[in-house]
Amino acid sequence: MKNLQPQGLWNNFYDLTQIPRPSGKKEEISAFLANYGRSLGLETIVDGIGNVIIRKPASPGYENHPGVILQGHMDMVPQKNNDTVFDFEKDPIEAYIDGEWVTAKGTTLGADNGIGVAAAMAILADKSVVHPPLEVLVTVDEETGMYGAFALEECQQVAFPFP
Ligand SMILES: [Zn+2]
Repeated sequence: MKNLQPQGLWNNFYDLTQIPRPSGKKEEISAFLANYGRSLGLETIVDGIGNVIIRKPASPGYENHPGVILQGHMDMVPQKNNDTVFDFEKDPIEAYIDGEWVTAKGTTLGADNGIGVAAAMAILADKSVVHPPLEVLVTVDEETGMYGAFALEECQQVAFPFP
């Protein structure tokens, strides 16, 4: 999977499959995303419930353009076949390529919303994309009731100040 194009996106998606992230299990995936933002030198905020916000300043000349939010969620629906032995709390997803599809062995893949989050991560890392101010917002516990989105505060406090 790591050799699929665009490679940055698929590498990110692979990394997401390696972190158990059913709804309700948010600490590790939230910390992973926050570390990703910080490793890029970007302002990164984790709010009280675990939502992650990463801000990427505008490209030169685009500072006055309206900002864009790329929003996704970090949790996935944990379902498996009856004959599959799998612990969503601990086991990495066994993703593989089947013809033209990326799929998973006996379980849900977590492409909802992992591929969206992987794309947003790739945009954060890409130095060639010209863009206005960007905010990547990745919420927790979307699949079970959008709890992360509902807990968003209008004006985020910086729980983990940059840098
Ligand atoms: Zn979803």
